[in-house]
Amino acid sequence: MRTLTTELLRTTIRGERAVAEVPVIPDDAPPALREGLRRRRVAAGLGRCPCGATRHITPAIWAALCQSDPDRPTGHAPFNHTADCPAHAERLGPEIEHWQGK
Ligand SMILES: [Zn+2]
Repeated sequence: MRTLTTELLRTTIRGERAVAEVPVIPDDAPPALREGLRRRRVAAGLGRCPCGATRHITPAIWAALCQSDPDRPTGHAPFNHTADCPAHAERLGPEIEHWQGK
């Protein structure tokens, strides 16, 4: 079974230094998987997905992010991708599973 790997990307969240864990796009990823992962990377780096999604940061998530080591990813701030966005979990999840050979 193939495994999706991740890497750390330096970014800023609300002007604060942060590190985001982003997926590495496999060389053999089919187009839908490639686009979904590419959008996840773009969203993490720029704070906005091409579909318009932004980070959903609750007060609890923000508190966790602020208390964390800026060099380590800790808090998880999900993006509210639109239903038709290739990065939406309900679209990207099956693509990942298919690529993994499940
Ligand atoms: Zn999106």
